[in-house]
Amino acid sequence: MSMFADIAFPISSYTVFTYAVPDKFREDVGIGSRVTVLLGKRNTTGIIVSFPQKPIFSGEIKEIISLVDPYPVLDKFLWRLIKWMSKYYFSPIGQTAKAVLPAQLSLNYTPPKKWAVEITKKHNMSNLGREFRSAPSQKLLLDFLIQKNSSVTVASLKHLASNPLNVCRGLEEKGLVSLTKVESIPDSGSFTFEPIEKQISFSRSQQTILDELIPQISGKKYISNLLHGVTGSGKTEIYIELVRKCVEKNMSAILLLPEISLTPQIAGRFYAVFGDKVALWHSKMTSGIRVWTWKKICQEQCNIVIGARSAVFTPVKNLGLIIVDEEQESAYKQESPAPRYHARDVALMRGKINKAVVVLSSATPSLESYYNKDYKKHVYLSLPERFGGAYYPKVSLVDMKEEKDETGKSDQLLSGLLLKKIHKRLNLNEQVILLQNRRGYAPVMRCLDCGFMLECPHCKLPLTYHKTGLTMRCHCCRFVNRKISEECPDCKGTQLGLFGTGTQKVEEYLTEVFPKANIARIDTDTVKGGRSLTSQLKKFAEKKLDILIGTQMIGKGLDFEDVTLVGIINADTGLYLPDFRAGERMFQLIYQAAGRAGRHKKPGEVVIQSYQPDNPVIKYAANLELKQYYNIAMGERKILHYPPFSWMCRVIISGKSLERVDSASWKIKNEFPIPFSGLKILGPAPCYRGKVGSKYRHQIILKSLKEQDPNGEKLHHYLRKYFSQKKLAKTASVQIQLDINPISML
Ligand code: ADP
Ligand code: ZN
Repeated sequence: MSMFADIAFPISSYTVFTYAVPDKFREDVGIGSRVTVLLGKRNTTGIIVSFPQKPIFSGEIKEIISLVDPYPVLDKFLWRLIKWMSKYYFSPIGQTAKAVLPAQLSLNYTPPKKWAVEITKKHNMSNLGREFRSAPSQKLLLDFLIQKNSSVTVASLKHLASNPLNVCRGLEEKGLVSLTKVESIPDSGSFTFEPIEKQISFSRSQQTILDELIPQISGKKYISNLLHGVTGSGKTEIYIELVRKCVEKNMSAILLLPEISLTPQIAGRFYAVFGDKVALWHSKMTSGIRVWTWKKICQEQCNIVIGARSAVFTPVKNLGLIIVDEEQESAYKQESPAPRYHARDVALMRGKINKAVVVLSSATPSLESYYNKDYKKHVYLSLPERFGGAYYPKVSLVDMKEEKDETGKSDQLLSGLLLKKIHKRLNLNEQVILLQNRRGYAPVMRCLDCGFMLECPHCKLPLTYHKTGLTMRCHCCRFVNRKISEECPDCKGTQLGLFGTGTQKVEEYLTEVFPKANIARIDTDTVKGGRSLTSQLKKFAEKKLDILIGTQMIGKGLDFEDVTLVGIINADTGLYLPDFRAGERMFQLIYQAAGRAGRHKKPGEVVIQSYQPDNPVIKYAANLELKQYYNIAMGERKILHYPPFSWMCRVIISGKSLERVDSASWKIKNEFPIPFSGLKILGPAPCYRGKVGSKYRHQIILKSLKEQDPNGEKLHHYLRKYFSQKKLAKTASVQIQLDINPISML
């Protein structure tokens, strides 16, 4: 009997196509196998999603041309996860599979090989003095290798000889060294600190947490936990202990980190304990390294994965534990392209599918998780004190409206208090972290004569002035203007003024005020390649830097002994964005940033600058009063029917013609089935970012009250009824996207 396979492709279409499986592949194909077939006129890689008894398609059925991978790239658990995601997030199965699998898996990447060299036994016997009279560089190299007494890469000998390979070959001819080609671990060193060894003895409260979690790990049962531990309470050490237990039981573990800036330090700790069992997985990896890592994980050579949101998909075998660090972070949400998934929610589902333990962890949990703990969805574990008796920092809140310089000018960048405190800390040879959550130099440039604002020609949002590289950039659509206007495009006035503050301006100002201090800036502009991120953080750890300025990238997770002062330059940034989570986010950012100070023996302090020191978000964050703030925020969410009290879906309608976007939006709204009780529909209305690049954007918001729809199924069915696969397929003029449990409302 002939065998058929339905195949999905990584395109935004829901259709699957049927192909015949030639006899020679019968034994090797399975669901989740990747194959090459002819699609239209082109050879295309697709993924087998099912084996139908007979094809529905009545035309000519083509044969599978070849298998892409010689080993399984997915197991049945991952395949179930993909299917769940595809359904839950309304994204085509092929496109969902594409989000899970590394793009170039089929390239058959082999890691680069490097020459390695090692001394042989013979060197003891040779009479070095005479043999080397005419070859001083051979002597130099040999001495070095004798001292090393282990294999080193030839490339690392460049400081001893201009062409070390030639010199080594000379030594090899004399039988003194042996040269071999080894597979080099691709570039792992550039995202991690040297292994960081520590003597650990757990505090009583840490031990209580471990006593609860460790027995869970052997259970082969899905349990979700919320670990709520204040900053500096030693959560990272708890992760390490849990992973150790996992590995002892021959199970693997995944640790998700929200931000690449957290990777080097935590990876350093993990490498010290687990060595090359650890694989890193993040956005800055090249596709070659990605493929290599995927294979290592498939072949079970690495069973601990540390990485960004997509690490939740890595094909570890026998998964025992997933930890989601800083689970409240919006970076866990994939915004584009589809599937618009949330790695925390996917982690919970993967835990369920694999019968593994999930630990959501944070000093400032999301309101969703905080709410879920009250409904016993998670085991709630709390670590209310800092480790080792370290104190909470002392916080001062500065009202920037009162700050004026000697001439009476307001609008100061740094308050007198913060300046004084930085001076003091520098004199004590301690370190300072300054947070300004905006990159670039100044977010607005305006004509001082007519008030005209320079804006992005596509998005109509203000262009940010970047002093490094001298450009004007749109932070929304990435438009770059490489020529800075010298006159107002509107009135031709020549007085253009810069308004607002970005990290570059803070850096420039500090360099002037503290000329002797070593200052570095970390934001997405300075750490494009990732390598410089690690080297800057390393320098900071080694105290070669005094002040670190940065965006939210440096606001959380970092642990430096000598940081005793944290300054938040403008706590108001982002507070008034039209997004119901704006307050929650600001609170978490301030609370976390404050948590970088005084984590060890030396007590720390925090200065928060704000123009609205009476705003509850700022006030409670400054007092580190989490419960109080969360209660207020919960109250507001409840009244307004926002998550966590409802399930939400955002329908985004976009296209190049405003008219068509508008009419398509109303058509959708008018065609919706009759709402069920507890469902609220808002819009259509233009998004806050009403135009991004060349596309206009409208949105419709659906909220389904949890009281009537406890697990969101009613909303899901309702959406499924209306948004058929055909409706979601992109047409030439208008695209409809569903964002399930949206995070950004902009
Ligand atoms: P958190 O992640 O909760 O903010 P960390 O895990 O970074 O806190 O811990 C803060 C500091 O205390 C780190 O330097 C960590 O190594 C140290 N620490 C935490 N627990 C222990 C322990 N049991 N023994 C020794 N040092 C610890
Ligand atoms: Zn733009």
